[in-house]
Amino acid sequence: MNTLAPPHCVGCGHWLVDATDWPGTCDVCSAAWPDLRGSAGSLLFRERCAAPFGATGFRLRSERYLRAQIHDMKYGGNRFLAARWGKWLGDSHPCPAFLTAKETALIPVPMHWKKRMRRGYNQAFWIAWGVSMAWNLPVRPDLLRRTHHESSLTRLSRSDRSNRSQALYVSKRQSEVKAAVVVDDVLTTGSTMLACGVALERKGIRWDGAMTLALA
Ligand SMILES: [Zn+2]
Repeated sequence: MNTLAPPHCVGCGHWLVDATDWPGTCDVCSAAWPDLRGSAGSLLFRERCAAPFGATGFRLRSERYLRAQIHDMKYGGNRFLAARWGKWLGDSHPCPAFLTAKETALIPVPMHWKKRMRRGYNQAFWIAWGVSMAWNLPVRPDLLRRTHHESSLTRLSRSDRSNRSQALYVSKRQSEVKAAVVVDDVLTTGSTMLACGVALERKGIRWDGAMTLALA
């Protein structure tokens, strides 16, 4: 469900007569849009994971159709939808000048290979791929890897979870990439993002920022 391409509203499915933008939403759905693009989202984002630069699309609250979109790209195998939202996220934010260097890459938050095999894809990769279409930066999923397969860290306390997840990601050594922006679908506590940043910096790749489609 909810994979309707424009000219249908992604919220209610109504036909849109003059839809040129993605995501296409009708006036009623647009009015309820929990927009976090620009400085408001950036502030909340930096607060949670201390990323030097942060950009996000919308707040994931009770809007059923936005949840459905995330669910569909996470579990529904909808790579195209993830890439399309990624491009929307990139188009919504100008690429910061400090990211235009040739050695900068977009790195999706990695998924353990067992999980990726079961699911068939990593939605964060496809979101990053969409951002790369707007920002013209390479996507390098090979630079970060998840070392442990843990289904859930949610039962641990916040600080335990933070310490624990810092051991979950290692980056490959020796790369021409000097700086990176990490991309994911949803930012919750920010500990995963921070763990990725720490892992990159440990290997000499400057962590320049983070982007997610939504903020939980
Ligand atoms: Zn609508």
